[in-house]
Amino acid sequence: MPTCLCGCKEETGGGRFCQGHDQRLRARLELEVGGLMNLAVLVFAAKKYANEEILGKEYKSITRSIFHGIAKPEEEIQSIPAETAPYFDCPINGCHFRFHNTRGGWDGHVGAFGIHPLWHPETRDPEKRRVLFREEFGSWLE
Ligand SMILES: [Zn+2]
Ligand SMILES: [Zn+2]
Repeated sequence: MPTCLCGCKEETGGGRFCQGHDQRLRARLELEVGGLMNLAVLVFAAKKYANEEILGKEYKSITRSIFHGIAKPEEEIQSIPAETAPYFDCPINGCHFRFHNTRGGWDGHVGAFGIHPLWHPETRDPEKRRVLFREEFGSWLE
């Protein structure tokens, strides 16, 4: 008899899950990442990373911001002397990505739909997203 994949260790009677336990696993996954939207962000980011549309550094930042909330991991803060390294937080609502030293790479970051799936979800074209970004956050780029 297969053991239920939800982690309850019960036998399923044939399927992959006990009756209703697939929902239990789904609920647990949501809880782990802090909600359905975070789960969506994580999945989109992983997909983008797999397709090499975002860098490992960005992917790491996204996963960290999800699992650690807005707090930056300590070692990341300690590795950057405050007075010598300016930083720029991504101005898009809900994004916790931080550009170190320069805003370089903003175009790739902003153009990647999966990083900000809630920001203009109707516009997936990277170039159009960059235009929208310039319109909304022009002052951030100066
Ligand atoms: Zn189960
Ligand atoms: Zn961002």
